[in-house]
Order: sequence, then C-alpha cells, then structure tokens
Amino acid sequence: MRVLVVGLDCAEPSLVLDRWRDELPTLRRLMDGGTFGELTSTVPAMTVPSWAAMMSSKDPGQLGFYDFRNRADYSYETMTIATGQAVKADRVWDIASRAGKRAIVVSVPQTYPVKPINGVMIGCFLTPSTRSPYTYPPELKEEIEGLIGGEYMVDVPQFRTGDPEQLLAQIYQMADQHHIVVKHLLASRPWDFFMHVDMGVDRIHHGMWRFTDPRHPRYQPGNRYENAIHDYYVHVDRQIGEWLELAGGPPDNTAVLVVSDHGAQPIMGGICINEWLKREGYLVLEHQPEGIVPLEKCEVDWSRTRAWAAGGYYARVYLNVAGREPEGIVAPADYEQLRDELAAGIAAICGPDGHNLGSISFKPQEVYREVNNIPPDLIAYLGKMAWRSVASLGWDGIYSTEQDAAPDDASHAQQGLYIYYNPVVEARGKAGRRRVLDIAPTVLDLMNVPIPRDMRGQSFAKGL
Ligand SMILES: [Zn+2]
Repeated sequence: MRVLVVGLDCAEPSLVLDRWRDELPTLRRLMDGGTFGELTSTVPAMTVPSWAAMMSSKDPGQLGFYDFRNRADYSYETMTIATGQAVKADRVWDIASRAGKRAIVVSVPQTYPVKPINGVMIGCFLTPSTRSPYTYPPELKEEIEGLIGGEYMVDVPQFRTGDPEQLLAQIYQMADQHHIVVKHLLASRPWDFFMHVDMGVDRIHHGMWRFTDPRHPRYQPGNRYENAIHDYYVHVDRQIGEWLELAGGPPDNTAVLVVSDHGAQPIMGGICINEWLKREGYLVLEHQPEGIVPLEKCEVDWSRTRAWAAGGYYARVYLNVAGREPEGIVAPADYEQLRDELAAGIAAICGPDGHNLGSISFKPQEVYREVNNIPPDLIAYLGKMAWRSVASLGWDGIYSTEQDAAPDDASHAQQGLYIYYNPVVEARGKAGRRRVLDIAPTVLDLMNVPIPRDMRGQSFAKGL
C-alpha cells in the first residue's frame, strides 16, 4: 500500500471533525470511509518537537529537544534552535528509503537542512532563505522555482503582522504555491510515501483566531473576518481533493492519513510567570526594572534566585542548581522538593476572576522514556495552555492582556486530529484517541516495512 500523509499544522479537531465537517467535502469523504479522532500531541504540544516525534515514534526526551529553542548548556542565556540537524533519530522516510521505498517529503517541520533520501525532499519553514540549499536533490530547486515562476515560500514571511489582509494574502500565496508543487511531484515521480505539511493553518490560527471564536476576549460579532479561518480550511480541503485525484483517489491502493501535530484554542490572556516567581521569592532582581523589560535585560541576583522561566504558549521553568548553573544555589538534595513546591504553586494560580486556572506541570523524567540534552526542569501549561507564559518583568500584577511578543490570538491544545482512510479496511467512523507516536509505525505497517522495535507507538493500520 502507498501512503499519502497530509499534515495540517495546528488543525483543530473540534473544527474539522465536528463544527465544519459538512463544509469540508474531501475530509468528510475520508472520514465517512475511514476512521478519525483526536491525536494526542507531545508534551509540550509544539510543532517542534511534535512532528519529529510523529515521524520517528520517539518522545522529545529521546529526541533530545523540547521546543524550537533549547538550552545549549547550563549557562543562563545560551539557547540553540532545533533544526533538522538536531534530529538524530530515523524518521519514516529514512527507514522507508532503506527498505527501497520511494519517498516524497515536502515542508515537514525539521527537514531543514535536507538530507538524502530515496526520493525528493523540500525543506521546511526553518529554511533561513531560499538562497540556502532547501531541496534534495539540489537541482530540484530550479525545477520548483521554474514551476512557480519565482521564489518558493518556505513560510509566511511575517505571520505576526497586525494586518489581516496582508496575512491572508501571504497565507493563500504560500498554500497555492505549495499546491502547484505537490501536484507536480505527485504527477511526475513514482512514490510509496508522500507527505506534505501545510503551515498556513497554524499561521492563520495564530494571526486571526480572535475574529472567529466568541470565547476569545477580543472577539467582535459580525466582524469582516468572521469566516476567514473557515474559508481557509475550505480552500485547503479543495486542494487535498485534487491531490487525491492525482494520487489515484480512493478506492485504490493508496491509504491516506490527515494529521495535525496539536490543536488550537483562544489565548485568554497571559500570566507573567517571572513576576509570579519574583513575588513568591524564587526570583530576585538587583533592582526593579523601569517599565516592561525582558528577563534577559533585567539584572538578576543569581546568588538569591532559585528559579526563573521562559515565555511562550507554556512556561519553561528552570532551577538554579548548585554545581550545575554558573551561580547555582539550590542544593541538589533540595531539587525534587523545590520542583514539587513550584508545581504546587503554579497549580494554585488563579485567574483575574479569582477562579483557579487548572494549570499543570510536567517533570521531564516522568513523561519521557529517556532525557537527553537539557530539558526545562518543569514544563508548565498555564490554564491548560489557554494562558500564555509572559517572561518579561515590571508588570503591576501577574496578569497581562498584552503579550511580550508580537500579536498572537491562538495557543496550542494537547489534542490534534487524525483521519485515516484505507480502501481495504472497513470503515468504523469516529474512533478513540491515538497518539502522534502511533503515526510512524502505522505508516510503515501500511507499506509493509518492518517497524523498528524501539518505536514507542502502536500501528493502527488494521483499523480498530
Ligand atoms: Zn504546530
């Protein structure tokens, strides 16, 4: 069986599998003829590491990266970006290539820099510029640029723009370019495994969720962009329909998986996590900042600081451990107790309305099979990720409706989605949750390639 994997970065199960199901005829046809449900993301539910975990069936601890940005060492500032270079584990296309299968891989996160496979690869949004070699083989670049008549878009260049029109124009331009490329590759080359990931869904969620979701604090009924996200899903659904036609279309020997690496939800506000750590006595500054200042620009008194945190869709909390950090003060014997104390403190944080936010913290050693390189000491979902972690200091309280980065409307959610269509497996409709870790073994199973025993997930190729 050949396998076509359609990745929709950040696609939200409640929208695709339920609310807009009848308006997405291609996906609906796959759902009607197959199975579908929620797909549990990694902890943290982030693009990096989720797609790499999905394609390798290894957890972030085994992979040794926990986010785009990871601590390079135990100093207070050195961070590195986890590109494809950071992925040491085999992914589906590596294993399939060695088994003699032909693979076409387009725009899958953490495939820049590209590596040789038995087929072709076009690098992901981490490609710094199209002047870099972003295709394998290298000469594919000219073919692609000839096809689209210009520069290939690896991402939406300014997705944190405040201008919805400009954002929409860029997202559609990228989707339409990639559509041309995908159709061309499907039609021009033999393949056993084909995968494309659309980043537009993620970009439109982050940029425009406030227009669509009445739960969002800045939602205004009847606004002109009310249907923008809906219409983009419809656009992508139509494109996927054309890919299925070119792939032979059901029914034949092609299995189809539509997957997302995590879901989406409105950002309800921000918790100024370092402000909270400061108030609780864990973080001490030499003097109060004037105005709102990023943590890196504050003078931290490390000799009295036990913990600090990084911002984002979730909080990464770091402990200042004696013998580990340059000016560490937490005795290794007190490490576990402090971690528990911080997790309990974070779990008790209430929102501005006085209600508990239901925040949860994860210890890397408890959620991963191994822990390689340097993870955060705690991974904290503030209000199940509906509250952003704001790292800057100088706030009046611990709440921020503004964010410390550029405008962003949506956060991630732990459940992504899967739709699995197999022409020879009987349809069963809505099914239980699968995990991102289950996708790689399922794909290999479908292609009749042996599943490496160290994969963490389970194949669901045979249905159930
Ligand atoms: Zn993502």
